[in-house]
Amino acid sequence: MSTAKKLFGTNGVRGLANVELTPDMAIKISLAIGTFFGKKNLLLGYDARTSGPMLSKAVTSGLIATGCNVYSTGMAPTPSLQFAVKNHKMNGGIIITASHNPAEYNGIKVIWSDGIEISHEQEAEIEKIYFDNKTIFAPWNNLGELKEISGINEEYIAAIKKHVNTGEITKKQFHIVVDAANSVGGLTTPTLMRELGCRVTSINANIDGTFPGRDPEPCPESLGDLAATVKAIGADIGVAFDGDADRSIFVDENGEIYMGDKTFAVVLKQFLLENKGATIVTPVSSSTLIKDIIDAYGGKVEWTKVGSVTVSQKMKEINAKLGGEENGGVFYGPHQAVRDGAMTTALLLEIMAKTGKKLSELIAEQPQYFIEKSKIECSNKNKTALQTKIYEQVKNENISTIDGIKIWFNDKSAILIRASGTEPVYRLYAEAKSQERALKIVAEYSSKLRELLQTL
Ligand code: MG
Repeated sequence: MSTAKKLFGTNGVRGLANVELTPDMAIKISLAIGTFFGKKNLLLGYDARTSGPMLSKAVTSGLIATGCNVYSTGMAPTPSLQFAVKNHKMNGGIIITASHNPAEYNGIKVIWSDGIEISHEQEAEIEKIYFDNKTIFAPWNNLGELKEISGINEEYIAAIKKHVNTGEITKKQFHIVVDAANSVGGLTTPTLMRELGCRVTSINANIDGTFPGRDPEPCPESLGDLAATVKAIGADIGVAFDGDADRSIFVDENGEIYMGDKTFAVVLKQFLLENKGATIVTPVSSSTLIKDIIDAYGGKVEWTKVGSVTVSQKMKEINAKLGGEENGGVFYGPHQAVRDGAMTTALLLEIMAKTGKKLSELIAEQPQYFIEKSKIECSNKNKTALQTKIYEQVKNENISTIDGIKIWFNDKSAILIRASGTEPVYRLYAEAKSQERALKIVAEYSSKLRELLQTL
């Protein structure tokens, strides 16, 4: 966690539980959050991490001290809590989660009354209260109250079902394998799938905050068991969630694991077929595949900086109905403009039911791209100067500077060069129609960056 005058990162406050994010710090942060909201009704939940109940009690204490009423939901996926904030007409919410980070981490995400995470400007207001010691304590006879609220996960499941054709899905009797990473995804998706007529096999389904089954980041390295299970039992599809179940990564019937861009493209195509001319919100880190689908099916694109909060806020601003990220985040506006792993799973099953196609077939009909990634070391103090130097060299090409520098080349290849927000490195993401070309672009720009670094 940053020691500078900043608490919030890309996705809320994060830190090592009981080392950086201690109960006393959680109280201080929640005193600032409570002061920011001002004597309001706030929903509070947590994911499966061992430090969840401890931090939840601390946050409860801080919020009540500022006069806020705390409605405690217990364990819930982030999107379930977000839906409940809106559904129960709360003024806001807090979820204790570190999303995909390892088990020893935890964090605090703050939700606005519409269910969307607060903007970075609102985070800055909370930080100001925190660092300037502007906390307002309520008098003893005007403290907030603690109330329990139950059933939010069931309400969330019911809400998702309203957005898909349950009859069509049920007819297909899909067999799905759900890998919940031993966390909160297991509280909702297996039930949702059963209610959609699926046969469900669950792995890593028991709640265990040490995450013994796999790393909570769903990626090819952590999803070997899921892929093998889908293949071995002849299931139609497999899904894996991150620690708080807002992101979903899918496996096809052959055990092939797809990165988020490819499954987002499947949802995107169907959405554009049914919503001609719609505007899609996606970060500049997304694959050219997304732009290809948008162009081919008559949509418009709104590029944003990297980060789910930015995507949600942009969707809200322009009233967009669909957003997506390469990491498996799909934002389905008619349900809620936030990443939602269970909603995404239901949408994919609906598309498989409607088209009669297997997931592998839906992916194979898309334009294919090869992606290569690399990073080079660059001290935090040199990051801005390096960005300026790169810009000077490439400013006449087809570029975007929304976040880092993205260059699009004429042969449909592209590269994103972006300083890491958390580490002293620059990251390079190249993609091209052949692996050879993608490798070549990464190599070329890595050496260009190293040369430019020498001149600083
Ligand atoms: Mg997450």
